[in-house]
Amino acid sequence: MPDPGLETDLITLGRRIRHLRTARGLTLDALGERVGSAPSLLSLVENGRREPRLGLLRSIADALGVPMSELLSPEPPSRRAALEIALDRAQRAPLFTTLGVPAVKPSQKLPMPVLEQLVGLHEELARREQLAIATPEEARRANTELRLEREARDNHYPQFEAIAEEMVTAAGYTGGALTHRTVARMAEQMGFTLLHVDDLPRSARSVTDLRNGRIYLPPASTPGGHGLRSLALQALAHRVLEHERPRSYGEFLRQRVEITYFAAACLAPQLVAVPFLQERKRERDLAVEDFRDAFGITHEAAAMRLTNLATHHLGIPLHFLRVGADGALFRGYANDGLPFPQDVTGAIEGQLICRRWAAREAFERRDRATEFYQYTDTPAGTFWCSTQTGSMSPAGGPDGGSGAFSITVGVPYAHAKWFRGRDTQVRRTSTCPDPACCQRPAPALAERWSGEAWPSGRMHQQILAALPRGAFPGVDDAEVYAFLDKHAPD
Ligand SMILES: [Zn+2]
Repeated sequence: MPDPGLETDLITLGRRIRHLRTARGLTLDALGERVGSAPSLLSLVENGRREPRLGLLRSIADALGVPMSELLSPEPPSRRAALEIALDRAQRAPLFTTLGVPAVKPSQKLPMPVLEQLVGLHEELARREQLAIATPEEARRANTELRLEREARDNHYPQFEAIAEEMVTAAGYTGGALTHRTVARMAEQMGFTLLHVDDLPRSARSVTDLRNGRIYLPPASTPGGHGLRSLALQALAHRVLEHERPRSYGEFLRQRVEITYFAAACLAPQLVAVPFLQERKRERDLAVEDFRDAFGITHEAAAMRLTNLATHHLGIPLHFLRVGADGALFRGYANDGLPFPQDVTGAIEGQLICRRWAAREAFERRDRATEFYQYTDTPAGTFWCSTQTGSMSPAGGPDGGSGAFSITVGVPYAHAKWFRGRDTQVRRTSTCPDPACCQRPAPALAERWSGEAWPSGRMHQQILAALPRGAFPGVDDAEVYAFLDKHAPD
């Protein structure tokens, strides 16, 4: 198999030769005579089916009166040639061969409109094929790949940290919580105005009007100011990080990870957050709640942000979990060896975690207002965890119906000494994935109830089931365009 890149270059080279030859009114025979080659060989070259020797190429350039570089330019010689090349390439792609329909020779006889339409159809077909790959299983694999990459890099991305630091500083940030005003200034410096509207398309969290330099966000009165700053920063991040329209579900997820990271790095900038955390570590009084309060972000955002900084700057490996009241893991990260349950694809989302872990034990407490601390002995060692429970406003949210969830940050035993709550007396043993740990009913209960119980199962909302359909995964194009049109200045 020839290298596809080379093959493409051969097609372009052939088209350039044909273009120059016909422009000079030469037939294949006439050119063949001038360069001393068989017309059939030249035809193969012009069709990109044969790589010409350097000597032949030199003779062709001479015969056509152009420098060699003119033949070798990667640019198609005309719009028509570009289309012919695109059609040729599409028909050689594996996707086309699986269709079982005959190929069309991209010859001069094809009218331009037909050529335009064929190429357009091929491009759309290829794009849909790319997106269709995102079955729930593919989405889970892409998600797992990203998580493993983040874990391997200790969830620290220096380039995003640097850009965020530079931008917040340029907008006048000096410390504490990043204000709405500063976020608006950051947008202004990039040529964008932030506008709050109450009719955002339901499928979008924010919409950016690139033409008029506007970023539309939900109403400013929405509870949870952190969410709005984060949304605005994420919308800006797409521009700052020069994102292109995602062509696969994996790309879509990666962009989401990147914009979330960028927003977090703006809301708790490294230049202030790291000295803060170092100080608390020295005092042996690290606590997610203090970090959260110092920067005015949510508990979950603070916990996630800690994973960006703790290993790289403080030398502390750690894990993060968001778990629903039903025990299903909604989001997880670990570079400290915590043994997450996984499905066959390696995905951890949606898996039920051990009942003995702090993330689930915390739901059993009567007083949920304060942090819950626990040591857990597992087959992978002892971990200390700090868990806070909360509830999510949207009913039927992703956290297993009730809307309640827990946020956990934990570390291996040796690192517990840096954290507030290390003196807890709560200690549990988990032997999961051993089914005898917590998944099997207690023998006495099983004996009493086996055959006597008939529960009606709740349908689980498929995690990561939001499949792409429009130009942007999961977003309704028609709704977005209509929205932009309605709000655009005249
Ligand atoms: Zn267990």
